Amino acid sequence: MIKFLDLGLSDPGLRAELDAAWARVADSGWVILGPELEAFEAEFAAYCGVGHAVGVGNGLDALVLALRAAGIGAGDEVIVPSHTFAATWLAVAQAGATVVPVEPDKRTYVIDAGAVEAAITPRTKAIIPVSLYGHPVDMDPILALADKHGLFMLEDAAQSQGARYRGRRTGSLAHATAFSFYPTKNLGALGDAGCVTTDDAALAERLRMLRNYGSREKYRHEIAGVNSRLDELQAAFLRARLARLDASNAARQALAADYGRALADIPGLTLPAQANWAEPVHHLYVVRTQARDALQAKLKAAGVETLIHYPIACHRQAAFADLGFKAGRFPLAERLADEVLSLPFWPGLPAADVEAVAAAVREAIG
Ligand SMILES: *Cc1c(COP(=O)(O)O)cnc(C)c1O
Repeated sequence: MIKFLDLGLSDPGLRAELDAAWARVADSGWVILGPELEAFEAEFAAYCGVGHAVGVGNGLDALVLALRAAGIGAGDEVIVPSHTFAATWLAVAQAGATVVPVEPDKRTYVIDAGAVEAAITPRTKAIIPVSLYGHPVDMDPILALADKHGLFMLEDAAQSQGARYRGRRTGSLAHATAFSFYPTKNLGALGDAGCVTTDDAALAERLRMLRNYGSREKYRHEIAGVNSRLDELQAAFLRARLARLDASNAARQALAADYGRALADIPGLTLPAQANWAEPVHHLYVVRTQARDALQAKLKAAGVETLIHYPIACHRQAAFADLGFKAGRFPLAERLADEVLSLPFWPGLPAADVEAVAAAVREAIG
């Protein structure tokens, strides 16, 4: 049996660091909005090469609060990818704004400036590119559009901690960047957590208020905020994992290269593409084939666990039925929902398992 994912928590070195993190918090006696969060925010901002990081409760809240902090709300249109995890769309809905989906690039599965430009209307207020599966978006041309039209550019980098675009890290590329530290992400906590990075000090200040009841000073509420904080324990765990992020991303890159070699030249199987300006961090290893369901069933029979990211396109979700998008409205998103398959993938996946998975894929398709 080759499982899809392992969080790597049995690594003795990591375990010792996580134990030390917990001990620091226990010794401090301080569990919410304290020194571990401050330290993590400073370390993560430095890692991304950006001025501010504001920890929040999860990735969805990071997106919602960033939109709210930028003043995006009812009546505003926000451009999003048609192919993404539903949270990108849910965030726009929660902020009270309207999603305007655009189809992704056929090779990299992320949106490009041409599609964005065609979707801009006088009501457009923001763009949320998503560096899906760990592959960065071509940001410069989209930023140029954002500048030209006065739009807020919020990257959803929930799947791309540490990825580089033209040498610069996600987190420093847009006006603000939302991260999730859900346990399975490249940088994962041991529970829910997220953050927003930005170079805009005023935006960061509004986010700090929004995450804590709209309050800067205890019992004085300046705006209608929420309770969405990254607690001390998760911040302490994240500090231990951040120190290992580059090594684990390098392991992901090596595994992706191994898969690429082992799966080369299988007819009807499309492997992940890499744009020349991108240094992806392979959150997932996603292949495509028209015979996806049959392939998944055969792999399961061969003891290989796979997942689908994601089986239902956002515009076909019941949650978005009120938007009135019919089947066929975003054909590429629908096609990807029918054809993508994520193979077993995590930083400690043994090379022999990559070979075994590839052999099982070859056998199933051949
Ligand atoms: C995981 C994820 C989110 C949401 O993060 P949570 O921490 O689970 O709320 C948002 N966008 C994308 C692309 C994601 O993969």
